[in-house]
Amino acid sequence: MDDHIHIQRTWHLTHPDGSTVDIDLWTDGYTVRVEGGDGEDGDRGQRDVDELIAKYLAAGYQRARDYTVNDPEPEPEDTPEPDADEPADRPECCPECGSAIEYQAEHADHGRSGPAWLCLGCRWGEWISR
Ligand SMILES: [Zn+2]
Repeated sequence: MDDHIHIQRTWHLTHPDGSTVDIDLWTDGYTVRVEGGDGEDGDRGQRDVDELIAKYLAAGYQRARDYTVNDPEPEPEDTPEPDADEPADRPECCPECGSAIEYQAEHADHGRSGPAWLCLGCRWGEWISR
């Protein structure tokens, strides 16, 4: 099992006395974990990484290397998790206004409920019959 799957990028710093600091930025884009050093973690992403690196450089560390471990997680709004049982014939866009279409597994409207396509713009909707 790969326990680095959640790490997006690692910065490796070394001190002349032999100690090392690893700063990991997680794929969520904000969690920062520090191994070594004073172990101070962060939750402000790149901003914390930059501050931590500056702090350890000031303490005599040197940047040895940094490398990408995993690609960052895509922004949720860019690529919504496809619903497992979403029908394949998803409309490209709303026929009314051209906005993105969303799949609703259990849409309820006017006393009816079930799977439906919903427009994120004008709220156009279409029931999906199976
Ligand atoms: Zn629409």
